[in-house]
Amino acid sequence: MLTEPVTDVVCASCYTPNTLQISIFGRYAHVYWVPFFPIGKISVSECEHCRQVLEGKQMPEALKAKVAQVKAHAKIPFWHFAGLILIAVAIVVSFVFNYVNHQHTTAYVAQPQVGDVYHVRTDSAYSLLKVAAVHGNSVELLANDYQTDNLSRLNEIDKPENYAEEPFDLTPLDLQIMLQKEQIVKVERD
Ligand SMILES: [Zn+2]
Repeated sequence: MLTEPVTDVVCASCYTPNTLQISIFGRYAHVYWVPFFPIGKISVSECEHCRQVLEGKQMPEALKAKVAQVKAHAKIPFWHFAGLILIAVAIVVSFVFNYVNHQHTTAYVAQPQVGDVYHVRTDSAYSLLKVAAVHGNSVELLANDYQTDNLSRLNEIDKPENYAEEPFDLTPLDLQIMLQKEQIVKVERD
């Protein structure tokens, strides 16, 4: 909010000179009381002498011209953008998080270690593969017998008794292809 005295305009009610002041209020849209973005400014004039208060449209032309001048340098407080700023920060954080996760996943798939757990995506579900052994040109994997329809619930099926007893082999190239196709979405390594 900004309040400034007005010179050269006489009060329209009591005709006293130099008694008017203009206040500019920023309005903002909000979601659950968090300001999201500014949606314009409201102007109000008040006479110090007779206390007459006028809102934007009620003001005489001379006063409207003064309001336009004051509005021009009434800055919008940055917290009127708080919601948009929060969303922008959340997007950046999730972008960085995904990038780091992808870097880890790529590095782990390139150098498999016994105990690595791959989060894999099949046609419509998710499951796990556990690295049982690593040889020169093959990786032994144990398939998890269970699937989930939700990536975030994979940890619920990550129990030793849920894995097959007999491993199957994939080559490092197979793993790279699965990674490229985003069938391997994440690698957990202790
Ligand atoms: Zn007045």
